[in-house]
Amino acid sequence: MSDTLDEIICPACHKPMKKIYLETQKFNVDICLDGCGGIYLDNRETNKIDEKQEDITPILEAVINKQFEKVDVTAKRICPVCGHLMVKNNSSHLGGVQIDECYNCGGKFFDKDELIKFRNEFESEEDRIKAFNEYSKSIVASANAEFLGKKTYGSMINDIIKSYKEFN
Ligand SMILES: [Zn+2]
Ligand SMILES: [Zn+2]
Repeated sequence: MSDTLDEIICPACHKPMKKIYLETQKFNVDICLDGCGGIYLDNRETNKIDEKQEDITPILEAVINKQFEKVDVTAKRICPVCGHLMVKNNSSHLGGVQIDECYNCGGKFFDKDELIKFRNEFESEEDRIKAFNEYSKSIVASANAEFLGKKTYGSMINDIIKSYKEFN
C-alpha cells in the first residue's frame, strides 16, 4: 500500500515523491513534484480516480504550471513499494497510454499527463469494459473466421488472455 506516511522514491527519476491529500477520496497519492511529474497509485487508489468525473483537483493544482524533468518512458521501472519489476501495459486496445504496473502489489505508475489521458480515454469505467468486451468478441470472431485447423481454440484463448492483461 502506498497510502502510508513512508516516503517513496520515484521509479522513473529516483527523486523522493510528495504526498498529495485528496479531500474527496480521503487518501494520499504520491506525486513526483520535484522530478518528473509521475504519479504512483496503489490498486485501491487507482479505481477511485481513474474516471473523468472523479475529482482530482488537488493533483491538478499541484502540477499546474510546473516544469518537470523529461524521463525515458520506455525504461523499465522497479516498483517503489515492493521492489518488483513493473510491467508496461497499454491502457486499452486502442493503445492509449502505457502504464507501469506491479503484478506483485498492484501498484501503478503513470508518467506525467498519463493519468489525465487515461481518464479521458473513455467516458466511464462501464464504457472501458464495454469497449474491451467488444474487442474480445472481435478476436473470437476473427479466430472463428480462420480455418479451424490453423488457429486452435487454445491460442484463441491465449489471445484473449493476452489482450485482457494488456487492457488491465
Ligand atoms: Zn520522477
Ligand atoms: Zn509493487
